[in-house]
Amino acid sequence: MQELKDRILKDGKAIGTDILKVDSFLNHQIDVKLLDNIGEEFRKRLYTQDVNKILTVEASGIAIACAASRAMGYLPVVFAKKAAPKTMISGSYTAEVVSFTKGTQTMIRVGKEFLGPQDRVLIIDDFLASGEAAFGLLNILKQAGAECLGIGAVIEKEYQGGSAKLRAMGYNVASLAVITSIENGKINFK
Ligand code: 5GP
Repeated sequence: MQELKDRILKDGKAIGTDILKVDSFLNHQIDVKLLDNIGEEFRKRLYTQDVNKILTVEASGIAIACAASRAMGYLPVVFAKKAAPKTMISGSYTAEVVSFTKGTQTMIRVGKEFLGPQDRVLIIDDFLASGEAAFGLLNILKQAGAECLGIGAVIEKEYQGGSAKLRAMGYNVASLAVITSIENGKINFK
């Protein structure tokens, strides 16, 4: 997606060779027009009539998943939570995920009432790096008996291996900007 690549080059900040900061338009302040175009691009790349739900992780994934939902006819968005609130009373599906940016292990959870065998789901997130978050969400879908029809990332860092692993397992992965390396602050795209 050219508009996204241009914006990454203009406003993205490389942190070493492994992390890209996009706080000025995606992760802290949000450019809503760009976000809506991202939603539309996900519709073109991933939507089929069979999809009935979108799954993401709090917090950065939520706005992106909502943009995709609007473009796809207002599909329900479910987001995995990183803490267990007292309102989660009917049981939950859980998975351990190692955070790429923090290096810590987090338990993500989805209430059992929001996912089940009837669901055909798109997973949407901001970044795809090693694939930990996606594998955690796939684990939750498996526990629910739900099917994954596609995985969408706004930004993929291809060299961190997540997309190759997911594709080798047969998943349909769509990334709107694919970074092949970050060298001396320079961001290289596929
Ligand atoms: P993965 O689980 O695929 O290793 O990494 C994806 C998750 O880690 C995303 O949910 C995202 O929040 C975070 N992440 C991974 N790489 C980056 C990065 O370069 N920049 C930012 N801001 N977040 C990242």
